[in-house]
Order: sequence, then structure tokens, then C-alpha cells
Amino acid sequence: MRTTPVIAIHGGAGTVSAAALDAGAAQAYHDALRSITLAGQALLQRGASALDAVCLAVEMLEDCPLFNAGHGAVFTGAETHELDAAVMDGAELRAGAIAGVSRIRHPVRAARAVMEDGVHVLLAGAGAEDFARERGLELVEPSYFSTEARREQLRRVRGEGRIALDHDGAALAAAPLDETNKFGTVGAVALDRGGHLAAATSTGGMTNKRAGRIGDSPLIGAGTYADDKRAAVSCTGSGEMFIRTAAAYDVCARMRYAGQSLAQAANAVIMQAVPAIGGSGGLIAIDRAGNVCLPFNTEGMYRAHARGAEPPHTAIHR
Ligand code: ASP
Repeated sequence: MRTTPVIAIHGGAGTVSAAALDAGAAQAYHDALRSITLAGQALLQRGASALDAVCLAVEMLEDCPLFNAGHGAVFTGAETHELDAAVMDGAELRAGAIAGVSRIRHPVRAARAVMEDGVHVLLAGAGAEDFARERGLELVEPSYFSTEARREQLRRVRGEGRIALDHDGAALAAAPLDETNKFGTVGAVALDRGGHLAAATSTGGMTNKRAGRIGDSPLIGAGTYADDKRAAVSCTGSGEMFIRTAAAYDVCARMRYAGQSLAQAANAVIMQAVPAIGGSGGLIAIDRAGNVCLPFNTEGMYRAHARGAEPPHTAIHR
């Protein structure tokens, strides 16, 4: 029996900005979310794997200047870029991730290459970049990721003496979520016709983070997880709290050990477990039956999903 494919994507969670009142400002985000979801959906409708669909969607999100992953990544406190990404295939619990890289144009492709190589799960820094080079992946100068808007953001955040979970894009001034209070990670989860689940996440991390800091996104079980028997999950938010709660895996664990539904499990993690230790953010999740759950405890989260051939739903605010 063929399963109806489903895909969901996110472009970060955060606080609603004044520009949110301007419907025109939000339109560019809705359009980007819709076209990226449509691309993943088309792939699934043609019978492609959930893995291919989430990798394509995240790669497009990495390239999209409105979202912070890939080009336009945030600056660390040392004025460098350190990108993290992960991918997981729910069929056999295969996973790959890279952390703290600054030369790999599409971090999600490198994460997938680590998974397909099959020897290790997580490669970091220079070794991860050497691996990507060996695999023939596109490398760029670190300055490729820099934008003047991000440099300005670093100055502002530094001036306030904080570490910010946010991102900038071309439409910074008109972004519907407040760019100084936003989690910029991108991610995708999908269920394919064969009933397989996959998840992928990619991020520039946090503005003014300490050089060497690694967030939840590339940590399997924290920011990313997929298991065909339960769900595929991609998170965005204050990474340290998502690591401490093993957030993505906790969704699957609640389903497995406590018999919770996807909605019960995902909501418990985002509305209870993560905020209980001071964390904020959201996640996107799909279970093996094709249920979709997109909870967030912030004012908004860039998100979209599509089922079968139905038109995608996009949303930013509650
Ligand atoms: N979770 C990411 C991190 O902590 C940040 C984000 O979601 O934007 O690196």
C-alpha cells in the first residue's frame, strides 16, 4: 500500500516584529516557503525518497537570503562563521552531521555525505571541510557567508552584551519576525510513498556565540531525529536547552515509551520540557501515519507543509 507523501519545513522561530503588521512584508516569506515546499512536494509526488526531499528543501533554504543558513549566516563573537547541519534517514537510523564549518557552501550536502560514507556520524571543523573537499562538494571563501546586515547585527548584539538567536536576510528591515529575537535555523521533515521518514536541519547558530560553540542542530537526538517507527523531527530554538532535553529524540521517546500521539509528544517537548529549563523555540514533526505537528512557544515560526498533491499551507504567526 502506498503512503500519501507529506513534507514540512521551517525557517526559524521568534518574536513578531512591527513589520508583521505589514502584509506585504510577510509576502516574500510566504512565497519563499511555498516555492521551497512545492519543490520538495514535487519530488515526493514523483516517488523520490523522504531523504532526497528534505535535503533539497534545506539546500534551497540555505540558498534563500531570507533565511539564515548558508549565505547570510550569523557571526560568532570572533567575527567568523561556524555552520552546523545534520540529516537523518528514519529507515535504518542512518545519520550524518557536520559542525563548526566555514567553507562548505551547502552544509546539508556535507552532512548527507558523512551519512552515506557510513563510517562516522559527526565531523567538525577543518576535518569536516577536508572530507567535503574529498567528496567534491563546493567550497567557498568564508566571506561568502558574510553580509553587511549580519555584521551590523553582531555590533548591535555585542553592544547589548548578549548572544542572540536570530538571523538577518535581504528583507531584514521588513521581516515579519523580529530579527534580533529570532532563531535562524532551517529544517525539513518528510514522509515518502514508501512510508519512510527523514529529517534535515542547517544553521549558522547564534549571533555572538563563542567560537567553537556547537548547537543542537547537528546533534542527532537534540535538534534532528528520524525513526520510521515514530517520527521525523527538526528543531529551532535556544540550542543549549534543546541539547539538555534531547528534544528531537524526546518526541520519539514519548511516542514509543509513553504511547503518546505525535501531537501530545511534540507539544509536551515544546510547551513543557524545553521552557521548563528556560528554552524557547519550536519544531516541525511528521509521524509514520502522515500526521503533522508544528508547535512553537515563541510568537511565530516560519513554517509550511504539504500533503499529497494538495497546495502547501504556509504560516508565520499563530
Ligand atoms: N538551534 C540553533 C542553535 O542553537 C539556533 C536556531 O534555531 O536558530 O544553534
